[in-house]
Amino acid sequence: MFADLHLHTRFSDGLFTPEELVAAARPHGFAALALTDHDTVDGCAPMARACAAACIEFMPGIELTAEQDGHELHILGYGLDTANRQLLAEAARFQAVRQKRVREMVARLNQLNIPLGADAVLAQANCRAPGRPHVARALIAAGVCGDSDEAFERFLKKGRPAWAPKFKMSAGEAIALLHKAGGAAVLAHPGLNRADALIPSLVNAGLDGIEGFHTKHSTVMAERYLELADRLGVLVTGGSDCHGPTRGKPLIGTVKLPYQRVEKLKARVAEIRRSAERAEADQSSIAHRPS
Ligand code: AMP
Ligand code: FE
Ligand code: FE
Ligand code: ZN
Repeated sequence: MFADLHLHTRFSDGLFTPEELVAAARPHGFAALALTDHDTVDGCAPMARACAAACIEFMPGIELTAEQDGHELHILGYGLDTANRQLLAEAARFQAVRQKRVREMVARLNQLNIPLGADAVLAQANCRAPGRPHVARALIAAGVCGDSDEAFERFLKKGRPAWAPKFKMSAGEAIALLHKAGGAAVLAHPGLNRADALIPSLVNAGLDGIEGFHTKHSTVMAERYLELADRLGVLVTGGSDCHGPTRGKPLIGTVKLPYQRVEKLKARVAEIRRSAERAEADQSSIAHRPS
């Protein structure tokens, strides 16, 4: 039994609907899937329904962007309460920032005499958490770039002319937010960050796991993260980070996480839930204490 715990849909920068994503997962025989859209849990309810219809276990999730010592880190949240008020309020704030950032990037492109319209890009994105991939797709549709790689290389990568900074919380804040929402916090694709030296401090801040298996991790890299996770006493997760059909073929199915690791993650989530509930009960008993 296997799982893919890192997936995106149209609710952020993926191309599949939840239903299409589950249909793409089906031939691979996954026992469990998690949805980890950037800064939104909007896709979790439809994804849960599509998984139920396909007899696949579903775990709600999210991917947050954080910053630590000048490095951009992605923190995955798993098993969280998708109705948690603080989580939804923070997500709404990040979504507003993302929408404003798309406008900034389009304005920068306009200064380069590339005639894109921000309203059209946002309408085409049609989601609350748009990102650079939506701007890349608009550049491709306008015939300015041949593919997404070219769009990032020429315009959208950090330091390129249309890049605009994105507001980021600290990694500690992201971990605390996920824990308060009853979810586990996992460092996404550390192999892409070149910030391994920060991992012990993230674990001190409450990080529950490391994404050891990822499409962009080599076997050697995955082994290194498995050893590191063992040494630090944290969990290992994995997923394809599928964003839809890339060059015709979706990434889903390229990473298969053994189901035992999902069980360990679920046990950790249950612990976090219990302590989140205890903290809430303590808070309300303080609030209701007679003065
Ligand atoms: P954003 O969240 O707006 O900063 O955009 C980051 C997203 O862009 C990532 O989650 C990927 O989906 C995608 N991405 C990042 N770098 C590249 C790249 N070089 N080529 C294509 N897509 C990329
Ligand atoms: Fe993405
Ligand atoms: Fe990521
Ligand atoms: Zn991702």
